[in-house]
Amino acid sequence: MNQQMSSLPIPSQVIETLRSAGHVAVLTGAGVSAESNIPTFRDAQTGLWAKYSPEELATPQAFRRNPQLVWDWYAWRRELVSRADPNPGHFALVELAGLVPKLTLITQNVDGLHQRAGSDDVIELHGSITRIVCSSDRRVAETWSEAGETPPRCPDCDSYLRPDVVWFGEALPTQALHRAFQAAETCDLFLSVGTSALVHPAASLPFTALERRTPTIEINPDETPLTPHATFVLPGPSGQILPALVAGLKN
Ligand code: NAD
Repeated sequence: MNQQMSSLPIPSQVIETLRSAGHVAVLTGAGVSAESNIPTFRDAQTGLWAKYSPEELATPQAFRRNPQLVWDWYAWRRELVSRADPNPGHFALVELAGLVPKLTLITQNVDGLHQRAGSDDVIELHGSITRIVCSSDRRVAETWSEAGETPPRCPDCDSYLRPDVVWFGEALPTQALHRAFQAAETCDLFLSVGTSALVHPAASLPFTALERRTPTIEINPDETPLTPHATFVLPGPSGQILPALVAGLKN
């Protein structure tokens, strides 16, 4: 049984657990960027894109079937991300890293908002929407044009270019995955923030910490498969809870 807590102000037990931690591992998901107006997957399919599910757009099969549709969807999301700003949740994690002895930030997000807020050395499990790579050899394309045919072609080999993100059914970058599991295995506090805890292998990370009896805090306005197992649950938006957590630690 975990402690379902009223989130604000942050209960002293949670602050004390955070204060005594030497290494905090944080896993973030789409919910952390929701308050920057980047839709989570559940909320993403609106307007023009309502008739497609993310699983129909974010797969290698979808790209093979209809490369233009997939490129255009990502171009729309890239535009959305470029207009977005980091929110108080992203900034609170930058501050938290300066307050604890060690913090490892692992994200499933592809929007680069943690880095834009000032977080260093972010472990990106699912790549980045802002990088464009050759679909054959994954070499990064420094420039490309959206003016002509989409997707644009690789200047070296003429294959289509694609976003450097991990699609459903694709393997995660080995080194990022290794570092993420190492952090989950060695941290003494795990924070799961704004993730549905449904997309594996990232969803296994908090459970890896729990198996080692590492205290695990979930921050999410909704229940997830992690909720019944987390040591502490702080229900609410991360843009409010994370700054409150940092304020509690500083007091
Ligand atoms: P998800 O969309 O499956 O789940 C988002 C979670 O965030 C939900 O549990 C929801 O309750 C919670 N949430 C919503 N608003 C919140 C808020 N204000 N504060 C805290 N939590 C909030 O996302 P996921 O678990 O990250 O996994 C799905 C995949 O979606 C990942 O592969 C990721 O790459 C991709 N994705 C990324 C972005 C992004 O980069 N911003 C956006 C959408 C999807």
